[in-house]
Amino acid sequence: MDITEIKKQPLSTLISNYFECQKCKIVHRNLEVLRVGFKCPSCNYISNGGRLYFHINIHILIDLIQEAYHSVNSESKVTRFYEGEGAHDISVIIFFCTLRESLLENLINRLMQAQNLSKGVSDRLLADNKFHIQKQDKLFRALTNIKWNEAMLKLNDESELDYKKIDEFISSVVIARNNFIHEGSKWSIDRELSTGCIKNLWGLINLYVGLHNTYVQPYYKNT
Ligand SMILES: [Zn+2]
Repeated sequence: MDITEIKKQPLSTLISNYFECQKCKIVHRNLEVLRVGFKCPSCNYISNGGRLYFHINIHILIDLIQEAYHSVNSESKVTRFYEGEGAHDISVIIFFCTLRESLLENLINRLMQAQNLSKGVSDRLLADNKFHIQKQDKLFRALTNIKWNEAMLKLNDESELDYKKIDEFISSVVIARNNFIHEGSKWSIDRELSTGCIKNLWGLINLYVGLHNTYVQPYYKNT
């Protein structure tokens, strides 16, 4: 199935439908969890229904990306002077970058919770690392003892997806977004880049699921 051709079904129901075990916090995609009496394959906990792992903002952003991507075909009643400049592709890129920021924020918060950091300490760490790049390079490393790039390579060892490549693609989208915001330039945003965003959504979501299961979940394993 080509993900860029899915229009009628919200992509969030296909991509971000991950569940979290209430006890051992493992994140998985076993839809059986919706059945009462489902036994967690990791800790044997019997759940009374599934708990979605991602907050609503993640699901909304994924669906907004899909909607913006396909709105290229919808008829516009107004004529704008920048007609033909691919405004829809810009929406996709901006939502995609916001999605990546929300995913990292969630991961960082979960790491701090797992390590039982006090609210005072957590607030200070977040205040000292306001920007995404600081959270990714400094805070992630401080909370996991591994550099971001090394974490990508480590995830690659256990997956069929190439997270290093996905991360490089994400960086290229961020550069294009920054060029648009700060320089007023849209030369690097085109249909090819927005198509890449749709195609990399699955990898992006799985990247953060992988980071959760590798660096957050072990704190709950033996509780
Ligand atoms: Zn469990």
